[in-house]
Formats: sequence, C-alpha cells, structure tokens
Amino acid sequence: MNNNNSPKKNGFFHLPEIMRIYPDKPVPFRTQLAVMCTMLIISCLLFTVVFFQQKIVHGDSGAAVQISTADERSAAARSEENSTASVAPSEPSQKEKQESKQESKQESKQESKEEKVIETEASESAGELLGNMKTLDMDVAAIHAGELILVNKDYSCRYDGENVEPMGNYKTDSYLVLDYDVALAPDVTKAFNNMMDDFESQFGENDVMVACGYRSYDMQVRLFKNEQDNSDEAEQWVAPPGYSEHQTGFVLDLDLNKLEKGNGIDFDGSGDYGWLNNNCQDYGFIVRYIAGKEDITGYNEEPWHFRYVGLPHSRFITEKGITLEEYIDMLHGFTADKPLVITDSDGSRYCIYYTAVNDWNTTEVEVPADRKYTISGDNYSGFIVTAKIDE
Ligand SMILES: [Zn+2]
Repeated sequence: MNNNNSPKKNGFFHLPEIMRIYPDKPVPFRTQLAVMCTMLIISCLLFTVVFFQQKIVHGDSGAAVQISTADERSAAARSEENSTASVAPSEPSQKEKQESKQESKQESKQESKEEKVIETEASESAGELLGNMKTLDMDVAAIHAGELILVNKDYSCRYDGENVEPMGNYKTDSYLVLDYDVALAPDVTKAFNNMMDDFESQFGENDVMVACGYRSYDMQVRLFKNEQDNSDEAEQWVAPPGYSEHQTGFVLDLDLNKLEKGNGIDFDGSGDYGWLNNNCQDYGFIVRYIAGKEDITGYNEEPWHFRYVGLPHSRFITEKGITLEEYIDMLHGFTADKPLVITDSDGSRYCIYYTAVNDWNTTEVEVPADRKYTISGDNYSGFIVTAKIDE
C-alpha cells in the first residue's frame, strides 16, 4: 500500500485535525486505520451495553418492570398466565375471546367497587383509634341483648316484649299501623319514622302499613301451629316459637293499606315502594331475607320483612350483599387489637370489634372511656362494640 504524503490523498478517511499528534505532518494510513478500527470496536461495545440495559428496563426482568396503565397490567398478567400454563393453548380466537370476556368482567367489577360508599381496612388497635379505653365487666346473659343479635333457626330470642312499646306512641303520619298492638323498640320506630317521612315527601304516598312488629312467644306458638296445619313447608315461612326474629322488637313487616284485603301481604317492594327496599340501609334497616341466600337464612325471600341493625352495619351488610349471619361471622375476625374500620359514605369512620365470652359469669370488654359507643351481644358467643372514630 502506498503511503502518500498528502493527508487528502492517502485513503478513504482522514483524521480530524484535533486527533493528529503533529498537525503539520500527515498521519500514516495504517495508524488511521488502526484508530478507526478501535473506535468501531468501542462503538460496538457501547451499543451492546446500552441495548442490554434497555432490555432489562422494559421487559424481561420482573423486578425492574414498571407498569403503569391497566392495559399493560392485563397484558403482563396474560403473559404470566401463558408462561405458567401447563396445557397446550387452545384455538387462539377462542382464547382471545375468553380473555377479553375476563378483562371486561374485571373492569366492571372494578367499576362497581369504586361505586361502593363503604370501605374496610385493617388498621391500628381500638385504643390507638379511640383514645383512652376502659374495661366493662359484661354478664354472659347480655350476649342475648342489643341491636346486632342474631335470631334464626339456630339461635332463639330471649327478649319477649320487655324492650318494646306501641308504635302509636311515637309514630309520625307518613304511614299506618295495623292496630294499637303493633309494637317495636322505640329507637326502631324513630328510625322508621325518618324513612317513611322521606318516602312520603318524595312520592306523596302514605298508604304503607306496618302489619306486624314485635310478636310474642305465645303468638308465635299459635301462628306456627296454624301454618303447620295448612302447609308442608311451614318452616320455610314461619319460625318455630322462640326462634322468630319478630320477637326481638327490631323487626317489622310492611303491607299496603288496600280496601280489599286478601290473605297474606301485598307489599312486594315493587314500583315506588321499591325505594324502601333500596334505601332502608341509610336508616339502619336491612332487608333480612334475600333471594339466593335461603340456605344461609333458612327462609325464602321476603321483601316486606325489615330488620333494624343500626348504622353503619346496615349500609355495610347491604353494600356487600351479605346476610346478618355472614356479617356477624365476619365480625368475629376483628378484635380490639385489630378492629374493623368502616368508612361511611359521609366520611365518618367507625371502629368495630368483637370480644368472645371468656367466662361463664362475666367477660371483660374494652370500650372507649371518653366517647360514645354501642355494645351489642351477637346472641350466641360474644359482644360487638361499635364506636365512631372522628367526632
Ligand atoms: Zn316478618
């Protein structure tokens, strides 16, 4: 190869002036070539390093992945599913269909979750949430009293009229009662007044009638016998004596005041009256026997049968679509050390916890020393304390 003296004539490339050691002397072509090759190798190395770094950030390493959008999340979930699937994939189009179905299901689930007004969260102890605490010595018999008592075919009611008064002593004019004997716990009548006053002002109807409130043990004996005489499925509709929720004084059956009265109850929660079934939870009531839960409650659906449990329990039970049985069972998992916190739709937070009966005579139950609370038995195993966190 011929090394020319002129830098302009010695090959394809010329080093820039700055790289020349002696700017006035032409650099030999071999040196130029060596420098160019070195630069090329360095470039290749740099490129390789950058390429692998990009790969780590954007994909294959789980620890470094940063996924932001829902689409990317579901895509990641899909790829995970595919990578762990042990069975050969079925026809792609069908699989895609299934996946999109699943995605839309998940989306709608998320949407409905966002609509819910109540949230639950595990958090600090009751003492940390409610301040000073004190201890109450609760008699074991007290587990049978309070607005959260569970009365069903397994657990009988110990109240029998001592906690009720005729509704006529307290009621407003927005509804009717069958007769003066219809009685409820006074606080329940007051909550019912609020609901019916709102119903009347919204729909202009005042023909809802309370057909039955408290029912005594003796009355239940007659009712049950009568039902047994007329039906093979008496227990699906009428509770055995002692096991009727009506005996609690926290329950009422609604009817409509029609001139032509037939047998049974006309109120079915349809039309305008459906507002009561859909909004009763805001007044402390639940529709106690709902469709699809017959195996848990032991009763057929009864849209006319309302049970008072108080706030925020009524809202929680209704929002979750669960029964009182399931709710009480769930509360058993929350203690004063690790209570349930319910955030109500108005932002109020409630601290709720359960204390199991630990002695045949008395049980120590922690309650807040300086703020309001309610304590209720569950009717079979312990006590539930409910207190507002922010006052
Ligand atoms: Zn009833």
